[in-house]
Amino acid sequence: MKTVLMLLTCFVFMSGCHAQHDSMDATLWVQTSAEYQGNSEMVFNVAESRLSLLRDKQGVTADIDQAKSFGCLAGVSCPGLAAAGLIPAVVLDIDETVLDNSAFLARLIKNGGQWQPDSWDDWVAERAAVPVPGALAFVERAKAEGVAVIYMTNRRCSVREAGNELSLKQPCPQKLDTLENLASAGFPPLVPVDLLILRGERPEWDRAEKQTRRQYVAERYRIMMLIGDDLGDLASNIKKSSVEERARFVSAHEFLLGNYWFQLTNPTYGSWKSALKGKPAQDYLRLD
Ligand SMILES: [Mg+2]
Repeated sequence: MKTVLMLLTCFVFMSGCHAQHDSMDATLWVQTSAEYQGNSEMVFNVAESRLSLLRDKQGVTADIDQAKSFGCLAGVSCPGLAAAGLIPAVVLDIDETVLDNSAFLARLIKNGGQWQPDSWDDWVAERAAVPVPGALAFVERAKAEGVAVIYMTNRRCSVREAGNELSLKQPCPQKLDTLENLASAGFPPLVPVDLLILRGERPEWDRAEKQTRRQYVAERYRIMMLIGDDLGDLASNIKKSSVEERARFVSAHEFLLGNYWFQLTNPTYGSWKSALKGKPAQDYLRLD
C-alpha cells in the first residue's frame, strides 16, 4: 500500500521519485544547523583555552607514538621528552576540521553523483572550501601563543592531466591549491616553522593512515595537541578497526579527549562509516 501511494505521489507531482540521498540529513545538519556551528565553536574554544598551558608543559605530548618513543604515555609528564627541547606544535587535519567541503557533497546530492577521486580533485582545484566555525580564531590564537601550526591532510598528491601550465608541471598541485584555499578562507599564512603535509608527498606518506607523517613531525616537534574529525587524525592503526574496537579505544583514551585531543563532528563521511562493513548497515542499528 505504501509503495502504491509513493508511486502515485511520484506520478501526480512528478517529484519524490528519487530516494533521498544517503548523505542528505548529514549534509543538511552541517550546512544549516546552529548545533553544528555551536559544536565546532565549542571544540575550538576548549582547544584555545588549553593552548598556553600545553605549550608550557614541555614534557607532555598528545601523540601516543611520540610518547612511546620516549618510553612514556601520551598526556603524562615525560622527562626525556622535556629534555629533547622540541618546538611545541598543534597538528590539525584539514578537511572537515579547518575547511568545510560540504558544498562539494551538496553538489553530489543535487546531481545524483558519488564521491570520485577525479571530482574531488576538481573540487580541491576550485579552492572554494570555507572555514569550519571556530577554526580561524583558533589558528590565529595558536600563532599568537608562539605555537607551530601543522596541517596534516589526506588530500592526495597527484599529477594532473589537464589544467593550467603551472599546475601541469607540479608533482603536487594539490599543495598549492590547499595553501591558496586556506588563505582565501582567511587562515594566516604559513611561516617557516609551520608545515602543510599532504598524503603521498613522499613515497612513505602514501597511506591514509597518518602514522608515518606524525612520526616525521614527532622527530622535529612536540605534538602538544591533535585536532581532527576522524579517529585517524588522533591516533595510529585504529581508524580501520571494527566498530567495537574503535569504541573500546576511545574509552581507554577518554582522558585525552578535550585535554590533548579535540574531535570535530563529521556525520557525512569518515572512518566511522567505512567501519560499517561485513553486514548491511541497518544490522548495526541497536534496538535495545
Ligand atoms: Mg578530515
